[in-house]
Amino acid sequence: MRVHAAHLLVPVPSTPRRHATLRFTVSATATSVNVNQAGAASKQAVIVGGGLAGLAAATHLASLSVPFTLLEASDRVGGRVATDEVDGYLLDRGFQIFLTAYPECQRLLDFQALRLQPFFPGALVYLGAGEGGSPFHMLSDPFRFPIRSLSSVFSPVGTLPDKLLVGITRLRAAATPDDVILSSPETTTARHLEKLGFSPSIVERFLRPFLAGIFFDPGLDTSSRLFELVFKRLALGENALPEAGIGAIAAQLADRLPAGSVRLNARAASIDPSSGVTLDTGEAVSGELGVIVAVEQPEAEKLLPQLPARPKSKKPAERRTVCLYFSADRAAVQEPVLLLNGSGKGIVNNMFFATNVAPSYAPAGKVLVSVSLVGSFAEREDGELAGEVVRELGGWFGAGEVASWAHLRTYRIGFAQPDQTPPTEPAGRDPRVGDGVYVCGDHWCSATFDGAMVSGRRAAEALANDGGLSQSLS
Ligand SMILES: Cc1cc2nc3c(=O)[nH]c(=O)nc-3n(C[C@H](O)[C@H](O)[C@H](O)COP(=O)(O)OP(=O)(O)OC[C@H]3O[C@@H](n4cnc5c(N)ncnc54)[C@H](O)[C@@H]3O)c2cc1C
Repeated sequence: MRVHAAHLLVPVPSTPRRHATLRFTVSATATSVNVNQAGAASKQAVIVGGGLAGLAAATHLASLSVPFTLLEASDRVGGRVATDEVDGYLLDRGFQIFLTAYPECQRLLDFQALRLQPFFPGALVYLGAGEGGSPFHMLSDPFRFPIRSLSSVFSPVGTLPDKLLVGITRLRAAATPDDVILSSPETTTARHLEKLGFSPSIVERFLRPFLAGIFFDPGLDTSSRLFELVFKRLALGENALPEAGIGAIAAQLADRLPAGSVRLNARAASIDPSSGVTLDTGEAVSGELGVIVAVEQPEAEKLLPQLPARPKSKKPAERRTVCLYFSADRAAVQEPVLLLNGSGKGIVNNMFFATNVAPSYAPAGKVLVSVSLVGSFAEREDGELAGEVVRELGGWFGAGEVASWAHLRTYRIGFAQPDQTPPTEPAGRDPRVGDGVYVCGDHWCSATFDGAMVSGRRAAEALANDGGLSQSLS
């Protein structure tokens, strides 16, 4: 079966507009430039971890002309934000979407250079056979595209009041300042949706699969604050993929850093504020101006035993996902839309034809299929899992449609996001965790690209302020 959602044929919004970009005049030798601080010229800060948080911290230190070395354990920067090029296909390490409304990203990134390719704002929900004729139903944003949304009014994904509630929730979130959202009373997302008045139908058929794909949390235990924050970003901007893959975001930040300031394959084994960082090779890297620890939560807890223990009342929250890629000869859906599994059956959470969004994701004439599962599926080998996914999606589109699919690669992401169940403190945790030691990363803010970058800026600002190194951005 080929799915043609006629209401999707309205032209999608044009490429996101260019946002104001913070420009830096850091020269290639900024790591060795003098700071405006007597006696500090030969000293440096150290950043441990080159994900978005570490790269944002580095960007801010560079803009303040604070010398630093960024130590990254792996052979590339970007952390969880990465793209592999495999035989001409661009494979993001896990399905990730860039939201153009992220304010910190607007400040730090050149959107135009990323050549963002927008998704259709809505989702095509698979409900399965026997549900109102077609197994697929379109749910588009009723406030952005009221005419198009009429068709969704009559779809079986939720009630008409549900659809209005989606729009109202987005509008309310859009009008609420971030600090109000992030300090508001919190509960779980599941409880919050119930309190807002959503029917079980829209929760099970749309909101649960949609949010499970964002938070990797099918139980919807994630804090209602994060739900509101994400809804706000969805309301205010577009969902997009950079033309060169999601890793282009990290690459853009890294490319602007002073030459020689990043060391790859350099794993920090311990941190001592007086001596700096010791690598797993035994090498000491001095960090007289301070050490910023920008690693993922489990690693941060190992390196910094002084971090506050997570409340014992919290259930262990495992946020895992598996992303499978297939090449295909054609796409069963022609539009740049995310497909959600609202049937309550099977293992697929969401899928999309990546080349419908960004043709650059595959060689000419080929289609890239991205399929995401929530959980670890550790007991199943890659080949077995791929076979199960193709069989399941053959049930969605027809066996003929998936016959040409060839498995390219499977990414198993064991740690996708930190625990964001209540109680949370995403509003603004102090990055200072010891004398001269600062922490950042998505576990210190919100688990988003933006949250990671905000946390990196805050850590850099704290280090610069504490050392009297702040100067206005050039
Ligand atoms: C599959 C997936 C999908 C996602 N989807 C989205 C999305 O659609 N939108 C969104 O906004 N966010 C999304 N996220 C979340 C987002 O990617 C993260 O919140 C963000 O990238 C975290 O950045 P970070 O710098 O805090 O951590 P990381 O990216 O984990 O970076 C930490 C870095 O530290 C390095 N490191 C670790 N230990 C050491 C050590 N001892 N010494 C030196 N270096 C070390 C690591 O190698 C890594 O490079 C997604 C995440 C995943 C995994």
